[in-house]
Amino acid sequence: MENFMFHDCDTVDLAKKFGTPLYVMSEDEITERVRTLKSLFDDKYERCRTHFASKAFLSRDILRILTRENIGLDVVSGGELYLARDMNFPPERIAFHGNSKSAREITEGLGYGVGKFVCDSIQEITVIDGLARAAGKIAKILIRVNPGVEGHTHRHMLTSGGRTKFGLTPEEIADAVSMCSGLANIDMAGFHFHVGSQMMDERAHLGAIDVMLELIKKTRAGQGFETRILDMGGGFGVAYTDADKPSPIADFLGAMTSRVEEFCASNGLARPDLIIEPGRYIAGPSGITLYTVCNVKETPGGVVYIGVDGGYFDNPRPALYEAVYGAVVANKYGDTPDRVVTIAGKCCESGDILIRDIALPKVERGDIIAVLCTGAYNHSMASNYNKNPIPAVVMINGGHPRISVRGQTYEDIYACDAMEV
Ligand SMILES: *Cc1c(COP(=O)(O)O)cnc(C)c1O
Repeated sequence: MENFMFHDCDTVDLAKKFGTPLYVMSEDEITERVRTLKSLFDDKYERCRTHFASKAFLSRDILRILTRENIGLDVVSGGELYLARDMNFPPERIAFHGNSKSAREITEGLGYGVGKFVCDSIQEITVIDGLARAAGKIAKILIRVNPGVEGHTHRHMLTSGGRTKFGLTPEEIADAVSMCSGLANIDMAGFHFHVGSQMMDERAHLGAIDVMLELIKKTRAGQGFETRILDMGGGFGVAYTDADKPSPIADFLGAMTSRVEEFCASNGLARPDLIIEPGRYIAGPSGITLYTVCNVKETPGGVVYIGVDGGYFDNPRPALYEAVYGAVVANKYGDTPDRVVTIAGKCCESGDILIRDIALPKVERGDIIAVLCTGAYNHSMASNYNKNPIPAVVMINGGHPRISVRGQTYEDIYACDAMEV
């Protein structure tokens, strides 16, 4: 019997010291992943840039790391922009995304001077033009294109294909581009696509790139438009369990950049600047979540339920899209699994199951469970459902853990309740 170590920290000690549920992130892992992307992409060709999709995980600490590592940031809301601004994140390195931006959000983006807006509809372009004029600014934009390729992932993680809410179809682009040339406060710089999330290989990305390159060629011939930027989105898959076998990131990026290079060379086009926007790839494997077992029970149907002190409120992904996670019993690491159990969250929903049917060593009340690969889309998707406080985030740096985001108190949950007592 031994304890599970995460980046040189004993996770059972972390649980004791900081309490559970607890998000644990590794600065070393985040940094290494960012540097891997930089060496494979940013440094491979001049005029490539990586943006971190802040919706995957956002805190002051990660903004500090990203600023230090000199990469860009995607935001999709005024709330995300607020923290970037509060941390003096370089505005020119921010891209403002989202399919339904409010006037307030656009104005805030213009006010901070974000590097670009990624526009999701023709109407949005005209709205940004108007607000930019009022603010005395020129807004640089990319137009989001739905390239119509279907990725192989859960339908809730699909953002391309015939029925998604995102982007303009390639057929609408010629009109959009012509319109932009008549808008004095719009600087139309290029195109964006994002095929979806948790892609296991580069097929969907390459399919989309082919569509985009044809579009770039067509708008140049038809509208005389020179595409300066092609933003190729995120979506690079990670391994949640041993069953997931994502292509190495080098294969994704190598194939994608060569496809662009070759097409541009053989069609006599200038190669546009390239952007990628990974979220999960950077944050996912950089985090785990620790829980304490509250009870163990077996149903008459033979299902063994391990009840833990967290669940849907700190990780809604299994309930939202049947996400599958791996876990270990942190204080019995290395023990032989002795039966198949189901780890249940504590929210009052039958659907609040963190992991179904996982083989674990004998689990007892008080044991610490570590759910793996929870660094992306867990803390950022957390809620106060059932009035559970959102757990703390501990950041490990060089083997030293410290509180990065403090856990909510009950008072925090009700801080906005305006009733006078
Ligand atoms: C969510 C999203 C990303 C990041 O996706 P990952 O799967 O986390 O890499 C990038 N770009 C856009 C536009 C997104 O919506």
